Amino acid sequence: MFINNGDIKPFEKKLWLSSPTMHGSEIKYVQEAYETNWMSTVGKNIDEVERLAAAYIGRKYAVGLSCGTAALHMAMKLAGERLYGQPQIGHGALEGHRVFCSDMTFDATVNPVAYEGGIPVFIDTEYDTWNMNPKALEKAFEIYPEVKLIVVAHLYGTPGKIDEIKAIADKHSALIIEDAAESLGATYKGIQTGMFGDYSCISFNGNKIITGSAGGCLLTDSLEDANKVRKWSTQARENAPWYQHEELGFNYRMSNVIAGVIRGQYEYLDEHIAQKKAIYERYKEGFKDLPVKMNPFEKSKAVPNFWLSCLIIDKDAMCKQVRSETEAVYIPERGKSCPTEILEAISSINAEGRPIWKPMHMQPIYRMNPFITRDGSGRAKTNAYIAGEATDVGMDIFSRGLCLPSDNKMTKNQQDVIIEKIYLCFS
Ligand SMILES: *Cc1c(COP(=O)(O)O)cnc(C)c1O
Repeated sequence: MFINNGDIKPFEKKLWLSSPTMHGSEIKYVQEAYETNWMSTVGKNIDEVERLAAAYIGRKYAVGLSCGTAALHMAMKLAGERLYGQPQIGHGALEGHRVFCSDMTFDATVNPVAYEGGIPVFIDTEYDTWNMNPKALEKAFEIYPEVKLIVVAHLYGTPGKIDEIKAIADKHSALIIEDAAESLGATYKGIQTGMFGDYSCISFNGNKIITGSAGGCLLTDSLEDANKVRKWSTQARENAPWYQHEELGFNYRMSNVIAGVIRGQYEYLDEHIAQKKAIYERYKEGFKDLPVKMNPFEKSKAVPNFWLSCLIIDKDAMCKQVRSETEAVYIPERGKSCPTEILEAISSINAEGRPIWKPMHMQPIYRMNPFITRDGSGRAKTNAYIAGEATDVGMDIFSRGLCLPSDNKMTKNQQDVIIEKIYLCFS
């Protein structure tokens, strides 16, 4: 199929994992902000982003914030105060309370739990969508029946097992915070992600499917909660002639300049999704003779936004790979490969891949936090990972998987070169 000479020239211009794609209308709205002097955290662009973000997903209210992490933080505060009351100054709204969290996700999903003094309890991952395993969540409620909050992410734009997770949450009267930062535009049974949380969050970070360079929104159906977040995110000022404060404030509001970029990007969200989907399908077809699989989704229920294309190597096609906390080595083997070898190969031709997001229970910062697998056990007693033996699903996907260059400006030719390069890793 390919000219197998191993002599592939590096790309002249770096091929990114997922970089911003601008179209022209963004600058028009930014210009408008500039010319009308709404160079602040108030203005028409913010109003429009809030309207578009809520309408696209189908929520009643969206609140424009400086980033997705800020939206998650505000969601934690809303949930914490609803569940446990308003904390005293200097104390978090989740202080001392356990919160069940997705384990294989970006750390911004769970850090806001800690900002509010909560204790993240990590729930292992399932193989069907690479998201929170409902069976492990059920186990977690057996061990910690008092828990009232679940934080779930949809990794790489693939919806998780929402029905199962919602049913468990309802059974235990727990609230859900949905981190849809990576999944904007993905649907589950025809409904947008961002609709399933009591509070949901989206992000417009530079690498997301649409971007403002930064920015995020909190989504809710409660006007009261939306107004609370509008107030908290602008330093919690009371209605008075002077700066008057009854609550702790934050400087988290979205800029009207950044909102101009996001407003322009919304016109291209569907186009970006179509491009990402084509990239995923081209990889899938291209890898059909290799011992690898693409990141999976539930075909009967979910339509991902295909934000990142990923692959996972079959167990028996893995060469020996060992990772310390900060480094990786491997032993090349004919007919086999590993993420480290493939990432090196991709990088050698000036393209960017990335390991699977390292699960939270494996992060030194969260080493003392509980971790629950589907059989109710936690972390491996010995340091099995160092020995190259995965003892839970997250660890296994992390060791065998990787994110592929998924930039929506990638040409078919460039993608074919990536595919050929990966073939060579297995030769
Ligand atoms: C990007 C991301 C965030 C954070 O969004 P920012 O806008 O960068 O703060 C949160 N969760 C997940 C899963 C993300 O990928």
